[in-house]
Amino acid sequence: MTVSGKVATFRLPPLPTIGDLIKLFNLRAQKQLSQNFLLDLKLTDKIVRNAGNLNNAYVCEVGPGPGGITRSILNAGIKELLVIEKDTRFIPGLQMLSDAAPGKVKIIHGDVLNFKMERAFPSHLRKTWDDGPPDVHIIGNLPFSVSTPLIIKWLEHVANRDGPFAYGRTQMTLTFQKEVAERLTASTGSRQRSRLSVMSQYLCTVHNCFTIPGCAFIPKPKVDVGVIHFTPLIKPQINQPFKLVEKVVQSIFQFKRKHCYRGVGVLFPEAQRLRSSERLMMLADVEPTMRPKELSITHFKNLCDVYREMCDEDPNLFSYNFREELRQQRLSRTVKGSSSSRSEEEEDWT
Ligand code: SAM
Repeated sequence: MTVSGKVATFRLPPLPTIGDLIKLFNLRAQKQLSQNFLLDLKLTDKIVRNAGNLNNAYVCEVGPGPGGITRSILNAGIKELLVIEKDTRFIPGLQMLSDAAPGKVKIIHGDVLNFKMERAFPSHLRKTWDDGPPDVHIIGNLPFSVSTPLIIKWLEHVANRDGPFAYGRTQMTLTFQKEVAERLTASTGSRQRSRLSVMSQYLCTVHNCFTIPGCAFIPKPKVDVGVIHFTPLIKPQINQPFKLVEKVVQSIFQFKRKHCYRGVGVLFPEAQRLRSSERLMMLADVEPTMRPKELSITHFKNLCDVYREMCDEDPNLFSYNFREELRQQRLSRTVKGSSSSRSEEEEDWT
């Protein structure tokens, strides 16, 4: 508190602009790291506003680069900021920001895909899952090549309540290629409905905040960018192990444009395929001629629950791998010298 009784809010002192910093440290964007920078602080402020109330929050920023979003986070009244950056060239610029916000910034020079976040913040921040979200937030304008594997990895952490979610229902505000952002938030029946829609929405409330046109980035990427906010649900809509849900959802969306029985079938070895998939769909109350995009989360929940029962009855079922079976068949055909071309299933994989 100040003497006048107002809450003191931290503001960064005047600093060189991000553009100047890029010139100063010769930070040319590297294509192989999908580096596209945001220089407009009004836009970076908007991303940070969409993360929610950051007053006294502990924030982890992934891929800060030259630090545009980092500046907006530091001006949002946060308590502590952990930045994880892979590219050494950005470390001096981030160090400059750290000096301008004494005691607030921790810099990790490393790969976010390997970073263990369960001990990154003080343990007093931990909340139980049924509580409101903790004062821990993840924010990032990620490289597109990293953002999709990373969100799949983090969704598994949400399901297991570990990694960043050891603190409770940690919120994430992340950018994705616009098409991926649309898939993440697509509702039942929509054209963009995909594996990512079901996997993210059964575990989180997923909100498409706004779209940033490609021209706002330097250099301009070929695509626009969507800002997505995730809050883990107190009660996941499917109560089965992540790997089982992933297998069911992935199998069904393998044949995206076909009737769903086609994808359901690949959960079972050929010898029992017809019989078992009919049983699964009947018990799950799913019409075999529905398209994958027409299946609601409740349909997926029913399919996962019944598939789980079938796996409990037959302990070898879960480890059955359709791709592996195809590979073996192809191998034996090659060994026999058969010139027969690709099977019908294989066509569907392309
Ligand atoms: N956040 C900055 C901005 O909005 O201007 C930079 C965005 S740029 C698209 C992505 C940043 O992530 C780059 O600084 C890049 O070096 C960094 N990066 C790429 N892969 C990474 C990884 N695996 N772990 C941590 N940082 C990574």
